[in-house]
Formats: sequence, structure tokens, C-alpha cells
Amino acid sequence: MQVETILQSKGRAVTTVSTRATIAEAVDLLNTQRIGAVVVMDGTKVVGILSERDIVRHLGKDWASLATRPVSEVMTRNVVITSSKASIADLMERMTEHRIRHIPVVEAGELVGIVSIGDVVKRKIEETEQEAIALKEYIAS
Ligand code: AMP
Repeated sequence: MQVETILQSKGRAVTTVSTRATIAEAVDLLNTQRIGAVVVMDGTKVVGILSERDIVRHLGKDWASLATRPVSEVMTRNVVITSSKASIADLMERMTEHRIRHIPVVEAGELVGIVSIGDVVKRKIEETEQEAIALKEYIAS
């Protein structure tokens, strides 16, 4: 099973912000879109990722000024990415290894989707349900 399977069912839309956006603007997006991370872009290039964890971490240090700071000062710069052809098993391994819950999907330098740990769990549940149905049919036949 490939990352592409998840993208086909969830869609390819990715919520992004520019490096110059403020943390207040990014938080507004996280809330209105009900997501845990936004991908940070410099034009069409992925240059960072900002998750709710980053915001909580900085809140502990400098909560008073956080809202007006640019995303570039709070985001994680070394983004772990994947391709549509990668396996879901590989994706899960990388999420566990790096302790991250979001992985942008990039093809030929272009952002084409994002997969969260929630998407992976949903897919795994669907897979298990399908296997159970197939087993029941096999037993009944
Ligand atoms: P998360 O568990 O995804 O909410 O993020 C936990 C931490 O990992 C935060 O500091 C994020 O900025 C960072 N992070 C999340 N996703 C990625 C990713 N794909 N590549 C690198 N860092 C990430």
C-alpha cells in the first residue's frame, strides 16, 4: 500500500503559510481548518513545518510576544518529506523514528499533499475492516 492511496481518498489540499506570516495568522489557520500543522513555503518551495507542538513549546518561553512573531522564527526547518510512491509502512516508520505526526508529500520539488498520523490510522482501520469482511466471506463460502 502506497502513500498515493491515502492521497486519493483524503485529497491533495495542503494548508500552507509563508515564512513572513505571523504566529497569530498560523494559529487562526490551525483552528479554522482543524489541523495540527501547516507547511511553510517560500514561493513554491517547502522550507519548514509549524505544528501545534512548536507553538506550545514557544509559549512556555515567550508567550507575550509569540502572536506577532514570524512563522520563520518558530518553525522546524529540516522537514521530513515523502513521495506518493513510498509505502505506508515506511511512512509509519519515519513518523515513529522522528516522533512527528505530519509528513508533506513532495514530487519533483512540488508539494502535492500531506499525510498525518490520523490519516494513517484511518487507512489502517479501513484495511483491517476489509480483511475481516474478506475472511468472513471466505469462511462462509
Ligand atoms: P507533530 O508531532 O507533527 O505535531 O510535530 C512535532 C514536532 O516535529 C514539531 O516541532 C514539528 O515542527 C516537527 N515536525 C512535524 N512534522 C515534521 C516533518 N515532517 N519534518 C520535520 N519536522 C516535523
